Amino acid sequence: MPHQPTTSRRRAYRPTHRAPRRLSRTLASVAAAYAVAAMVLVLVVTVVLPVTAARHKVPALAAAGLAPSLSASTAPAAAVLAGREDAARPSRSLATPALRALPRPAPVARPVTIQRITWALPVSGYHLTGRFGDRSWLWSSGMHTGLDFAAPAGTQIRAIAAGVVKEAGYAGSYGNRTIITLPGGGEAWYCHQTSIGVTPGQRVAVGQPIGTVGATGNVTGAHLHLEIRPTGEHGDPVDPYAVLVAHGLRP
Ligand SMILES: [Zn+2]
Repeated sequence: MPHQPTTSRRRAYRPTHRAPRRLSRTLASVAAAYAVAAMVLVLVVTVVLPVTAARHKVPALAAAGLAPSLSASTAPAAAVLAGREDAARPSRSLATPALRALPRPAPVARPVTIQRITWALPVSGYHLTGRFGDRSWLWSSGMHTGLDFAAPAGTQIRAIAAGVVKEAGYAGSYGNRTIITLPGGGEAWYCHQTSIGVTPGQRVAVGQPIGTVGATGNVTGAHLHLEIRPTGEHGDPVDPYAVLVAHGLRP
């Protein structure tokens, strides 16, 4: 009979075995619930808050000192989730806080070596008469190909930009004409001059006198006809007014 107590003990334990099993199951479910709650909390802290902060720029977070850590570590992920890839890249300022902390070298005064390409108006004391694109029987092409600066005959004409004199002489309806190259390429034509003050091959500076206003060629009065041809004699002219404005002048 030595086995009887064992049997009875086994029988007696049967119900107590079931009880711990239920307890463990309950504990497991409670633990699982806590795990889910923890995961939700982590999700809220790492994803929802940064997205909210990024969208509303929550000042409270910044005030609480949370904004830097959020933006530095989790904002990129939050931005990706929000569908903003550009914001996902860490900003330069965040990437180089150490560099920003370094003292900057003091600015050193250096001589200016950059030569500004300056332009100038060709005459003073003028008023504009003919505009580029004007249509009239006066011009053989039917369309005005330059800008007319009306001024008394003999008024000084100055180079609108530095260049080299390509041609200077009488040219039919253009009258006395001087062609000077332009810094960016192309040519400036100065027409109807009374007198020509430069010779082909001569280098001229911006504002340098190159001749005087006149009424030679096909004209109705004394004026300078300024024509600009970006691709030379055989290319189309462009509006000199727009070119001068583009170089900071107000004709
Ligand atoms: Zn003209």
